[in-house]
Amino acid sequence: RDVRDVRVDAGHEPGARDERRPAPARLISVVVPVFNEADVLATTHERLTAVLETLPFAFEILYVNDGSTDASAQLLDALAARDPRARVIHFARNFGHQVAITAGIDAAKGDAVVVIDADLQDPPDLIPDLVAKWLEGYDVVLARRAIRFGETWFKRLTAAAFYRVLNRLTDVEIPVDVGDFRLMDRRVCEVLRALPEHRRFVRGLVAWMGFRQTEVEYVRQPRFAGESKYPLARMVRLALDAITSFSARPLGWALYAGSASAILGIAFAVVFAVLAAIAGRIVDLVMLALSGGVALTGGVLIAIGLLGLYLASVLEEVRGRPLYIVDRVVASGEAVEADAG
Ligand code: UDP
Ligand code: MG
Repeated sequence: RDVRDVRVDAGHEPGARDERRPAPARLISVVVPVFNEADVLATTHERLTAVLETLPFAFEILYVNDGSTDASAQLLDALAARDPRARVIHFARNFGHQVAITAGIDAAKGDAVVVIDADLQDPPDLIPDLVAKWLEGYDVVLARRAIRFGETWFKRLTAAAFYRVLNRLTDVEIPVDVGDFRLMDRRVCEVLRALPEHRRFVRGLVAWMGFRQTEVEYVRQPRFAGESKYPLARMVRLALDAITSFSARPLGWALYAGSASAILGIAFAVVFAVLAAIAGRIVDLVMLALSGGVALTGGVLIAIGLLGLYLASVLEEVRGRPLYIVDRVVASGEAVEADAG
C-alpha cells in the first residue's frame, strides 16, 4: 500500500514531467473508444460525469473517435467545447477498437486509467467500485461480466469457446468473461505504452504483465443504442490476433502431425515390403510406394514444423516485449524503487 504512495507522489515532485498539476491531487482518466456512437454519446457523457463527480478525485474523459462516419465527431467536439474535462482524439480513419484503447491509454495523464465502452454496456456506476479496489492497492481491477443481457447466444457461445481455446493454447492466463472494461494503475499503463507490438490484444498484454490484479463483478447490459461494431469477421480477427500474440503452439503442430505421418508411413512401408517379398503380389508393391509417400509427407511436415519453431523465436524477439517487469525493489525492508519496466 505504501509503495503506491511513494511512487505516485514521486511523479508529482517539482521537476517531474508534469509540472502544471497541483501536487497531491490524484487524477482519474477515463478512456472511451468511439466508433459511430452518435446515438449514445450525450447520455454516455452525462452518466460518466455524474458518476465521476461523486469521487474525490479530479478526472478527465478521453474520447477516441476511431474514424466514425456518423455525427460522432461533431458531437464529441461539442462535448469538449462545453466540458473542459473532456478531450477528444480523432483518428484519421478506423483503426479498430484495440488501437483506439491504446491511443487513449497513451494520452491519459491519470494516476489510474479506466477503459469503458461508449455504448453503456459497461455501466459507469461500477467505476467507484473499481476505484475502491485501486485504493486498496490493486494495480489492475477487471470488471467481470457475471450475467450478460442483450447479447445473442451466438456471441456468448463464441466468446466462451474463444477463451477456452485461448487458455488451452497460451501460457498466460487470460481471464474469462472479462472485456476491456477495467481500471489500470498508471504504472500498468506505462508498461503498456512501452510495448512496441502492433497486433495488440490489450487484455492479453495486461494479463501477461502480472502485478496485483483483482476483479469486480457486474451485470452486462444490452447496448443502449446503435448496434455492435463487432461482426463475426472482426471477432475472428481479434481471436487470431490474440492467439498469435500469445501462443506459438500452432506453429509446432506441423511437427506433431508430421512425426505421426512419418512413423505410420515407415511402419506401413515395412509391412508391405515384407508382404511383397513373401507373396510377390503387385498390390503390395503399390502399397509400399504409397506408404513411402505418406512417410515423405511426414518428413515435409516435420521440416515445416521446425521452421515454425524458429519462426516462433523470431516472433518473440521481434515483438520486443521486456524480459521481465519489476514490481518493486526492496532494500533493508524498504521499497527503494517502485517503477515498472
Ligand atoms: N469501437 C471502436 N472501433 C471499432 C469498433 C468498436 O472504437 O472499430 C468501440 C465502440 O464504439 C464501443 C466499443 O468499441 O465503444 C465496443 O464496441 P461494440 O459495442 O460494437 O462491441 P461489442 O460490445 O458488441 O463487443
Ligand atoms: Mg458493445
